[in-house]
Amino acid sequence: MSDCIFCKIAAGQIPAKKAYEDDDVVVFHDIAPKAPVHLLLIPKKHIESLFAATVEDQAILGKLLLLAPQLAKEHGLDAGFVTRIHTGAAGGQEVFHLHVHVLGQPQAAA
Ligand code: 5GP
Repeated sequence: MSDCIFCKIAAGQIPAKKAYEDDDVVVFHDIAPKAPVHLLLIPKKHIESLFAATVEDQAILGKLLLLAPQLAKEHGLDAGFVTRIHTGAAGGQEVFHLHVHVLGQPQAAA
């Protein structure tokens, strides 16, 4: 998708503060964070939203969900975090490239 901002981030065509990358997935910090830690986990493959996901995308969807706690812990969210997936305009989706939000506040060490 040539006009997709998250495809451009995945391709390195526009900058983002990346936290993780492999062949299938990119994780980067939200440009307008709604929490002290606010990560966006995206598949490199352009999937518009959960509405557009198919059984072919089962593995990548599972991978994104399993990466969420790993990345959360790496950013100090050992005590817990929030995941959000907005789907469709009425579901609050603004960028139409499937993404998982990971949000949270690192807890002070006891
Ligand atoms: P949505 O409402 O679609 O689930 O969330 C899209 C998120 O992408 C928003 O939280 C917004 O701040 C973030 N975002 C939009 N454009 C950019 C960008 O160019 N770079 C980064 N890092 N985040 C973006």
